[in-house]
Amino acid sequence: MASLGNPQQTIAILQKYNFRFQKKFGQNFLIDPRVLEKIIKSAGITPEDFVLEIGPGIGTMTQYLCENARAVTAVEIDRNLIPILEETLGAYPNAEVICQDILKLDLARLAQEKNNGAPIKVVANLPYYITTPIIMGLFESHMPLAGITVMVQKEVADRMQASPGTKDYGALSLAVQYYSYPEITAHVPPHCFLPRPKVGSCVIHLAKRPAPPLPVQDEKLLFGIIRASFQQRRKTLANGLQNAPGLAIRKELAAEALQHLGFPPNIRGEALSLEQFIQLSNTLGGMGCPSP
Ligand code: SAM
Repeated sequence: MASLGNPQQTIAILQKYNFRFQKKFGQNFLIDPRVLEKIIKSAGITPEDFVLEIGPGIGTMTQYLCENARAVTAVEIDRNLIPILEETLGAYPNAEVICQDILKLDLARLAQEKNNGAPIKVVANLPYYITTPIIMGLFESHMPLAGITVMVQKEVADRMQASPGTKDYGALSLAVQYYSYPEITAHVPPHCFLPRPKVGSCVIHLAKRPAPPLPVQDEKLLFGIIRASFQQRRKTLANGLQNAPGLAIRKELAAEALQHLGFPPNIRGEALSLEQFIQLSNTLGGMGCPSP
C-alpha cells in the first residue's frame, strides 16, 4: 500500500470504497506529507512509544505513527472507515483499530492494558466539533499521559496558549495550562485538508505537567472559581464570584480574600495568572467556602 499523505492516493482510496464524508464527524483528512512529518516531530515519537490516535480517518497519520512508534491504537467512530483502515494498515502489525466513540472509551484501562500503565502519547488530527471535551477528557481521566499532540482550530490553539490579560485568555487557557505546557508548533492552512475546513488550523503540543504549579486544596472549587470568573467577563472578579451559580461565595468574603492576597478590589478575572487563581481558591477554601 503506497503512502497516503497526498491528494492522489487519498482520492483513489476514497473512490475505491465509495466513501462519503460525514460532516457530523468533523472529517477533514490530511493530504500534506510535510504537515504529517511536523506532527510526528512535535509529538517526539520514539520506537519505544505506545501511541493512542484519535480519529484515524483513512489511516494517513496512522501509517506515519506505525513507522515511528512501537505500537499504535487508533480509535475511530465511523464504521464506514473500518474496511478502509483494514487495507491501509494491513502491512502494519503494530497497528490496532478500535471502532468506538473516544468519549466512551475507558482510557485508564487502555493505558494499563497496552502500555503496562506507563505514560502514553496521544496524537490526533481532532474532529473540531468535540476538541475541548476530548482534551479535557484525556486530562481528567487521570490516565498516565506523557503528552498530547493535536491539530485543532487555530482559534482554539490560541486560547489554549494565551497569557493573562490577552483577549484569548479564559477558562480553557487555565484548564489546559493546569494540566500541561502548551506550545503551538505549526500553522496549517485549509488547503492541507480534504475537504477544506473553513478555518485555519494549528498543531499544538501539550506536554503533561508533573504537578500543578502550586499545591491545590480543592480542585472543584478552583475550577468553579475559574468558570465563574470568565462567565461574566466584564464584571469585576468579586461581582462575578458573588453571582455564580453553584458557588456559595458572599461578596464580602470575595473582597476579603482579594484584599488578603493584595489584589485591588475591582480586579477582573482575566488579570489573574493560574498561580493566582490557585492562591485565591486556597484562600477562599481556608475561609470556609465549600466545594461546589
Ligand atoms: N486522522 C485523519 C487525518 O488526519 O486525515 C482524520 C482526521 S478527521 C479531522 C477526524 C476523524 O475523527 C474522522 O475520521 C472522524 O470520523 C473521527 N471521529 C469523529 N468523532 C469521533 C469520536 N467521537 N471518536 C472517535 N473518532 C471520531
